[in-house]
Amino acid sequence: MSQSQHVVVTEVGPRDGLQNECAVICTQDKVRLVDQLSNTGLTEIEVSAFVRPDRVPQLADASDVFASIERRPGVIYSALVPNERGLDRALASQVDKISLFAAASESFSQANTNASIAETLHRFEPVVDRCNQLGMPVRVYISCAVACPYEGPVSVEAVASVVESVLALGQVEVDLADTIGVAEPDDIRRLLEKIAVLDPIERLALHLHDTKGSALACAQAGLELGVRKFDGAMGGLGGCPFAPGAPGNLATESLLQRCNELGFATGVDVTEVAGIGVQARDMLSSEEDP
Ligand code: MG
Repeated sequence: MSQSQHVVVTEVGPRDGLQNECAVICTQDKVRLVDQLSNTGLTEIEVSAFVRPDRVPQLADASDVFASIERRPGVIYSALVPNERGLDRALASQVDKISLFAAASESFSQANTNASIAETLHRFEPVVDRCNQLGMPVRVYISCAVACPYEGPVSVEAVASVVESVLALGQVEVDLADTIGVAEPDDIRRLLEKIAVLDPIERLALHLHDTKGSALACAQAGLELGVRKFDGAMGGLGGCPFAPGAPGNLATESLLQRCNELGFATGVDVTEVAGIGVQARDMLSSEEDP
């Protein structure tokens, strides 16, 4: 087989998972989770976000978390930033990689960032420039790459147009996100076929949510087409804050398991990640209001 059989899984639970849970766990517990994840073979962990604490109180301690984690050589510790100010804070915390958050839907972009898609991308220009100059990797999430909670299905043409603009920013990794988790494998195939013309498929990352229970099937469709980078959240963290117990991000352990079954290597210990996911869920439920 000519295609690489190695799959890179980015653990986004500490950022995307915890950001979307009602309960807030303490800094020390977050550090413990990240330190444990560092010892599972994972090579990339999205640790936190340098965003406004009043907007995202769950991640207000980003600097403290970064100051306290034990960095394992070979592991990339990334953080989400919304703008240059966030980048400054991230750099001060010696973050290894930056994530930016764009959308393929205007309504979602307005609702989430109070800015149009074009305004958001314009705001990213100096961030990507500086990161590229520093040699610091940048990933750009394209949320609503399949559907939008306000507008419904999003066309592959609309996504392609945003991807083109994102690639024009500089050296970036494009991460296509099914934010509301409604994709079926055929949607993922159509999307990837369109986007792979703009950016080689092995450079793309997929970020799936398991709202309908089809995230694993979608991941498999991606694998079969050549995607080798996926996001997962331990324990499937990140359910909708208004629907307790609702499925969240694709669970990292399920993703790893499926990769193994299909003969792909991840280098990550599935059992350990699953155990850390259980701990995270326990921490969250013990913090939840009765
Ligand atoms: Mg997510």
